[in-house]
Amino acid sequence: MAEAATAERHEFQAEVSRVLDIVVNSLYSKREIFLRELISNASDACDKLRYEAQLDSTLIADDGDLKITITPDEKARTLTVADNGIGMSRQELVENLGTIAGSGTAKFAAKLAEAEKDKAKKEKSDVSLIGQFGVGFYAAFMVAESVTVTSRRAGSDEAWRWMSDGHGSFEIEPVEGEMPRGTTIVMKLKKDAKEFSEETRIRHIITTYSDHIGLPVWLHADGKSEQINEAAALWTRPKSEISDEQYQEFYRHVAHGFDEPWMTLHNKAEGVVTYTNLLFIPSRAPFDLFDPARRHGVKLYVRKVFITDECEGLVPGWLRFLKGVVDSEDLPLNVSRELLQANPVVARISKALVKRVLSELKKKAEKDPEAYTEFWNAFGQVIKEGIYEDHERRDELLKLARFKSTAVEGITSLDDYLSRMKEGQSEIYLLTGDSAATMKQSPQLEAFRARGIEVLLLDEPVDEFWTMSADAYEGKSFTSVSRGDIDLSAIGGEEEKDEEKKDAAPEGELSALIAMVKLALEKQVKDVRESKRLTDSACCLVVDEGEMNMRLQKMLKATGQMNQAGQQILEINARHPLIKALADKAKDGSSREIEDMAFLLLDQAKILEGEPPADIAAFARRMSAAMAKAVG
Ligand code: ADP
Ligand code: MG
Repeated sequence: MAEAATAERHEFQAEVSRVLDIVVNSLYSKREIFLRELISNASDACDKLRYEAQLDSTLIADDGDLKITITPDEKARTLTVADNGIGMSRQELVENLGTIAGSGTAKFAAKLAEAEKDKAKKEKSDVSLIGQFGVGFYAAFMVAESVTVTSRRAGSDEAWRWMSDGHGSFEIEPVEGEMPRGTTIVMKLKKDAKEFSEETRIRHIITTYSDHIGLPVWLHADGKSEQINEAAALWTRPKSEISDEQYQEFYRHVAHGFDEPWMTLHNKAEGVVTYTNLLFIPSRAPFDLFDPARRHGVKLYVRKVFITDECEGLVPGWLRFLKGVVDSEDLPLNVSRELLQANPVVARISKALVKRVLSELKKKAEKDPEAYTEFWNAFGQVIKEGIYEDHERRDELLKLARFKSTAVEGITSLDDYLSRMKEGQSEIYLLTGDSAATMKQSPQLEAFRARGIEVLLLDEPVDEFWTMSADAYEGKSFTSVSRGDIDLSAIGGEEEKDEEKKDAAPEGELSALIAMVKLALEKQVKDVRESKRLTDSACCLVVDEGEMNMRLQKMLKATGQMNQAGQQILEINARHPLIKALADKAKDGSSREIEDMAFLLLDQAKILEGEPPADIAAFARRMSAAMAKAVG
């Protein structure tokens, strides 16, 4: 290199600086996890090289023994982690180690931004968040006062050095002379982190955290070198030889997860397709579960060679919480990542995986309902997407689904709902809304409550969608209690039926009232009719059979996918004192007064739906007039 080797200074991206500030200042008790992060990166780098070398063998050249070498040096107070993997070019060093590129770190930064909004919580959350997400490479600054990364990318003969003390900026410079391929990270340890230059300490950490790594990890100290792990990828080992701790560490490695896996699925399938899966269901939902840009959680390997973690066809979107590894022997090693999507072997593996996951979930639901409830609370929303996306599995997924309901604390399955159905009941009743607590107050539920009929309370946005497409379970159709004409007359005892006819406004007066209200609200509602749903409230809004639920209409309007609200129907309760009084009035035909009352009824029903009156000023004027009259 002709140019003088002067270092170039770069500022860290603002988010990186934030992360670094916290890392540097944290007194996080498990600082040793920095080593797991660095080993994890070194192992990823070797995986990448192995994959790229399938397409271009010159990349690996004569240095085919991929490995990680760790060198503690007590005298110099340094720790060095080196790999002969893919390496980084100058640009990659700047991008990967100066901006937020890594998934783990990105999560951490996003979570920080969220915590930032809530200053009070901030102090506490910062530190615990490190434990939760990990900060990837930047974790090195928990123990190092300065970090030097030297790297030469496979296929290039330029090497670069990256240096930083973690305070706002880093420097980068070319390295003269021959450099081995890959990346070497030297940490000058902080005074209080001296322990990480001690051989015994480091040996212990590596055995705890990196035993599952499928790559030899060498410990180099006092002029001696020793391989200290088995270097057999965990999923290739027999189940009986794997401890819970090893599974757990592997989970942390592949999933960037810092919780415990809720379920571990380790199987070897031999049949139509041959593959091994080591999959985990996390116990906590990641905060980016609904972020379309999030990375896939399942890595595809072919005969132990990492191929991709972006194989869309491998796991359906509604199982996107799965983490882990699938290793197949039926795919060619040089399979193109681009064509994987349409690969029939991948499709077959996917089908088998889905089947396995669902059957394990079913077993768990039967054996340990409490644990299953935890799973469902974390990932049920995602599974519900499958109910409308995967027609073939709809019934199976409905069986696994759990819902809130008027009859139970907590959640219930549909099978349990069916077992509680009333004599004469042939439908599964449901209500959708923003929260179960508000829904419980809904006027639409009154008649159901009076007859002791259970109603499912669906409070997640996804419920609007699957309920549109799924029409029945075990031959019982899903019926929204706020839609269509509800007829409960076939359900329940005679007593309740008699109750219904009692005390209602006389039919003639009622139809006069309905006609007048209809006229007044002609432009506001599609229809006005007597309600069979109400027992206590005066009125409520419903939609017609085949119309979208009011909440879905609202959601689509809010996102601009629909510009006009569908037509709603105002139902009035003929046994309510107000309606009876109005009906009595309607007989003499004082339509002006009825008109104001009609609007007040509609506005009231709207408010019960969580919507403001259409014309707030008019609402206030009418309300005041009515009140003045009542007092006066
Ligand atoms: P993550 O591993 O989640 O992507 P990290 O902060 O650990 O996040 O690493 C950021 C990026 O830096 C990695 O994605 C990788 O591209 C690059 N990197 C880190 N360490 C190495 C290494 N030893 N060899 C090659 N690239 C590396
Ligand atoms: Mg990493």
